[in-house]
Amino acid sequence: MNDKTDILRLLPDELEALITSPPYSQPKFRAGQIFSWLSRGVGFDGMTNLPLSLRTTLSQNCIIKTPTVERRLVSSADGTIKYLFRLYDDNFIEAVYMKYEHGNTLCVSSQVGCRMGCRFCASTKSGRVRDLAASEILGEIIAAELDTGTRISNVVMMGIGEPLDNYDETVRFLHLISAPGGLSIGLRHVSVSTCGLVPRIRDLAETSLPVTLSISLHAPDDGTRSAIMPINNKYGVSELLDACRDWFLTTGRRISFEYTLISGKNDSPEDARRLAAVLKRHMRDGERTLPMHVNLIPLNDVEGTGLSRSSREAVRRFADTLSSLGITATVRRRLGPDINAACGQLRINSSEQKQ
Ligand code: SAH
Repeated sequence: MNDKTDILRLLPDELEALITSPPYSQPKFRAGQIFSWLSRGVGFDGMTNLPLSLRTTLSQNCIIKTPTVERRLVSSADGTIKYLFRLYDDNFIEAVYMKYEHGNTLCVSSQVGCRMGCRFCASTKSGRVRDLAASEILGEIIAAELDTGTRISNVVMMGIGEPLDNYDETVRFLHLISAPGGLSIGLRHVSVSTCGLVPRIRDLAETSLPVTLSISLHAPDDGTRSAIMPINNKYGVSELLDACRDWFLTTGRRISFEYTLISGKNDSPEDARRLAAVLKRHMRDGERTLPMHVNLIPLNDVEGTGLSRSSREAVRRFADTLSSLGITATVRRRLGPDINAACGQLRINSSEQKQ
């Protein structure tokens, strides 16, 4: 199975190169037909405008790595759907489908597990198993569109894994979803979230892909941040925020900072004041403070971490302190409260059940 061509991973020009060479030797226009079928989740058998012999050759030589739905949790509160997907090699990942006014949004995984080691995160508990291919990330969207019968217009790379630790496939995925003739999702409707791999943030800025960058900051200083996010020992807060400033100066696109509030760790009014100060110090161009936004996320409790969510009162005080200092912050609405499955928990439960 592994020597088969991962056809869903190919960009339109690569698909054209494949399909015009042996054993296919087809005219160019067939590539466009196949690309369109693939992005609608249709298997080779269903590609009815292709000659039967071509469909047979494709199925003998290619694999379509769209994940299948293993489990589906639907929130009765707001229709949020949490998926457990099975990959072609029987690994599991998760994705979350959310209905917002601005469109249907899918939160996708980029790796099986994660090696970043953030203390509050369920996805990293047993490390990284493997990277996802761009086809598998794309396949999460295709599978969710098929399952819901709806179109997905917004994508956030905030599921399992660190997208910038799987940089090449993440960039390929971004090209794939925005390619004409495929899903055609505008990159302005895509957020890439990172715990702060500084050199990769700089690389991504150079690609000119107009995505929104989300930075998982979670702390205002190195001491606090290193205690909960090991990556901070490699790239500290100042270095990270300088890369964020340069991101804005290169792309002109506003940065979103994620800040998960953990009781007694990073949620005091003093933490809020230090956060405002460090953001203003770095996110600056001469006299001008650069546009940015802070998303406050009350921690989803993850068993075994010893960390718990901040009180409602502490969250409100933190948000008020930030706004009084001129930093716009919103507290993230919690979708799907009744299917509580913080990032990575469904996958962990499924592998624990198997043992
Ligand atoms: N690795 C990337 C993307 C995946 S995590 C990143 O770090 O940004 C997506 C977001 O969920 C991050 O901001 C992450 O810090 C946050 N997160 C992880 N576990 C959480 C938890 N238990 N409660 C609240 N937010 C959490």
